[in-house]
Amino acid sequence: MKKVGFIGWRGMVGSVLLNRMRDENDFKGYEPLFFSTSQIGQNGPDLGSGALPLLDAFNEKLLMSMDILVTCQGSDYTKEIYPKLRASGWKGYWIDAASALRMKDDSIIVLDPVNRNVIDRGLVSGIKDYIGGNCTVSLMLMAIGGLFRENLVEWLSTMTYQAASGAGAKNMRELVAQMRVVGNCAQKLLDDPAAGILEIDRTVSETLRGNELPIENFGAPLAGSLIPWIDSLLPDTGQTREEWKGFAETNKILATSSPIPIDGICVRVGSMRCHCQGLTIKLKKDVPINDIVGIIQNSNRWVRVIENTKEATLKSLSPAAVSGTLDVPIGRIRKMNLGPEYLTAFTVGDQLLWGAAEPIRRILRIILEYPG
Ligand code: NAP
Repeated sequence: MKKVGFIGWRGMVGSVLLNRMRDENDFKGYEPLFFSTSQIGQNGPDLGSGALPLLDAFNEKLLMSMDILVTCQGSDYTKEIYPKLRASGWKGYWIDAASALRMKDDSIIVLDPVNRNVIDRGLVSGIKDYIGGNCTVSLMLMAIGGLFRENLVEWLSTMTYQAASGAGAKNMRELVAQMRVVGNCAQKLLDDPAAGILEIDRTVSETLRGNELPIENFGAPLAGSLIPWIDSLLPDTGQTREEWKGFAETNKILATSSPIPIDGICVRVGSMRCHCQGLTIKLKKDVPINDIVGIIQNSNRWVRVIENTKEATLKSLSPAAVSGTLDVPIGRIRKMNLGPEYLTAFTVGDQLLWGAAEPIRRILRIILEYPG
């Protein structure tokens, strides 16, 4: 029986992965073993037959006895452990949610509803490293992968509205703590129907600029504001690493022969775990809008075209509506005034599901089912 080692299962992405695997009855047909970097010997998860002690995630010999390793531990762990295992001759499959190995020549970024052909080719050719993509990129491709598949996209600009969860659990807590401070500062005025709106606004603005708001993790107010900067600056480009990933990872996922230009500005907003994106798409030709809608709607089981009405948009095209689900709604689809080849759309997706855990869950299954 194959042995599959799970590292990082306790973190935010890892625990979403575990929940999804439980929901889908995925822990069968192999022996799952659970590792930790900090809780060795303590109880691991109980999958129904009692919890076993956690194994040492730095024990190379133990790790090398696994057929498949699935890690949601983060890039630092990957950078430390992965090269040692390969240098010692380990030939198992490495499945990883972290970005460290994504752009390696012999790794595949996995998003099987979009690039199953690339994954299948990789398995046949003996590739052993399968890495989850950047959340924003994966969600964009889940929404408009059909347009890429039909070779309709000349270039794409995506302006993102990214959730706090993308920055980690501490940041999610900080956002809610900021909301509390803002709510508290305005409470008295809100309770007084005679209070003027400018007074409420002044109080909130003073609080956002004052010292009361917890900003240790974001470095700035997010509640009642936004942060148009995600990740570090790439030298000499003015672009952030998050913005660069849109271009680099999309083209790698699709294995494009000549790269499709993709760029935009990535913005952190005060939603909890859903990323949104406003897309501007330059099509290679003028395609009727109904055909476009059909291509998008039929590209996978999870994408859902939302009618371009206020009622449907408010009901279905928001983080509040989508959080915790695998749905990837896309709406506000229309041709732009810029010309008949210019399309705009807005999409939403849960960045811990399709943006992180779900492609990892599915590639494990694909690898376990691969006869090679
Ligand atoms: P995380 O929540 O910080 O968890 C990582 C590890 O921290 C855990 O596996 C656990 O390892 C340790 N840990 C320490 N204290 C903990 C606590 N109180 N609760 C739970 N775990 C604790 O990391 P993450 O956000 O899931 O991200 C993991 C990787 O996925 C990163 O490389 C990230 O870039 C990538 N990723 C994240 C997202 C996202 O939206 N967050 C999306 C796509 C990819 P031990 O059990 O070994 O101590």
